[in-house]
Amino acid sequence: MAHILALGGDGIGPEILDQGVRVAEHLAAAANLSLNINYELLHGASYDRYGSFCTADLLAKARVADAILVGAVGGPKWDDIRMPGGAECQDGLMYLRHHLQTYLGLRPARNWASLTNRTPFKNNLIDGANILILREMCGGAMFSSQRGQRLENGKRKGFDMITYNEDEVARIAHGGFALARRRNKRLVSCDKSNVMESYKLWREIVSEVSLEYPDVSFENMFADNCGYQMMMRPCDFDVVLCCNQLGDLFSDLTGSFAGSLGMLPSACLASNPADGAAFGIYESTSGSAPDIAGKGIANPVGMILSVGMMFEFTFGRADLNHAVERAIERAIANGIATRDVGGTASSTEMTDAILERLMQ
Ligand code: NAD
Ligand code: MN
Repeated sequence: MAHILALGGDGIGPEILDQGVRVAEHLAAAANLSLNINYELLHGASYDRYGSFCTADLLAKARVADAILVGAVGGPKWDDIRMPGGAECQDGLMYLRHHLQTYLGLRPARNWASLTNRTPFKNNLIDGANILILREMCGGAMFSSQRGQRLENGKRKGFDMITYNEDEVARIAHGGFALARRRNKRLVSCDKSNVMESYKLWREIVSEVSLEYPDVSFENMFADNCGYQMMMRPCDFDVVLCCNQLGDLFSDLTGSFAGSLGMLPSACLASNPADGAAFGIYESTSGSAPDIAGKGIANPVGMILSVGMMFEFTFGRADLNHAVERAIERAIANGIATRDVGGTASSTEMTDAILERLMQ
């Protein structure tokens, strides 16, 4: 029996989560796995009910789950609320990532042949592009403990201090090289070590770790150039290792290969996949899309791909993840698509089409 905590969150979150759960149930049956799914509130929905973005009770349930599925969180109603406590207390999802130490953020971005005309790329530049952005999820700028705003000489000043210690960098570097070994054995680490101290340490540690993986081709790049090169020659990249902030940026940027933010999955793992099954939080990469919430038209593909990743990384069934990708590929090749990628299908119809092809 696998225990899954299902957190719809806000906006389109609950709508796409429902579609993801339909696919999870189908895959579980195929894997002879029985699922126990427990639905709870996260972030805005939790704040409205309990006055907290993530309750202690929810964290306790999260600690004993095998995996967590998240729709999306946030919205204008809650974006400006300041809660007492550090960075993790301002966001329900960050609270879970912090307390569960799901440091290894996998954000794959790939080209779908039948959606290339929905992307800004031409001349077959992204045919076959498939990049895995690895984003550090528990440190760096977004989790700085020294942060705030104050008056200095009568002027307002804001600050967030970036820190990384060597263990934080080493664990994600090991995760990155292990994942590169399962893919095309190439890893680029990006930083701004030319101008920043925390990145000098980042580069030093990643380079040290790289010596343990001589079979993986490794290169350090300055992040600005790396962003440029990923757009100019996307097919040359395999795994791209990033700190929290650069990973956030680059995962949406490379998302342009897929034709819509709604096509992007993600996983946050608490251990190196080379060590076996990992606990993970699986979520679509996009936000809560308040502009289309409640209409039943959100693209469920990012959520469904995240469910596929859960079967690969938590339940050890990479084959089922690949089956999900193939079913999506066939559905969109047959012209079935939601509005964000030029079609007319509702979220439910899109999922119906994927499930149909999974069963063939
Ligand atoms: P967003 O990703 O919610 O939306 C950006 C654009 O993409 C919108 O036009 C939206 O309609 C579209 N879009 C996103 N997902 C889609 C889908 N599945 N199908 C079709 N179209 C989709 O980003 P935003 O508008 O900058 O942020 C909205 C809220 O989401 C904010 O409160 C923000 O803090 C939050 N947010 C949450 C997460 C998360 O839950 N992991 C990530 C980013 C932003
Ligand atoms: Mn983001």
